[in-house]
Amino acid sequence: MSFVTMRNDLQPICPAHHVPMVPWMLWLKLDVNVSPKPCYACATTGCCYHWDIVQGYFTTREGEHIEHDMNYWQKCEHDGLPMYVADFESQKSKRTWKCGQLGCTGSRVTEGPSKATAASQ
Ligand SMILES: [Zn+2]
Ligand SMILES: [Zn+2]
Repeated sequence: MSFVTMRNDLQPICPAHHVPMVPWMLWLKLDVNVSPKPCYACATTGCCYHWDIVQGYFTTREGEHIEHDMNYWQKCEHDGLPMYVADFESQKSKRTWKCGQLGCTGSRVTEGPSKATAASQ
């Protein structure tokens, strides 16, 4: 993969709540090490969605596993990186996706409901 630099002024939207996500430091347990992973997180209580430029949208379980959410996966055509939802219009279920790579202008617009996120919780 080419050199990846996540911009720090992004405003991804939570795919579940459609609210802006906030910059976040996720402490991930990998093997024996716990290392910080900069990402964005939904501030809604109980929401476990995160986004970063390598994983795209993902959820975590107890800070140990990362689970991708393939319902919210759009690849940037320039660099193949997962994009984030920058804008959501609820009436048309229209999402504007953007690439978070520094200097990249990749974007895409999708319409229609994405598949319901499985597992009834
Ligand atoms: Zn959320
Ligand atoms: Zn890109």
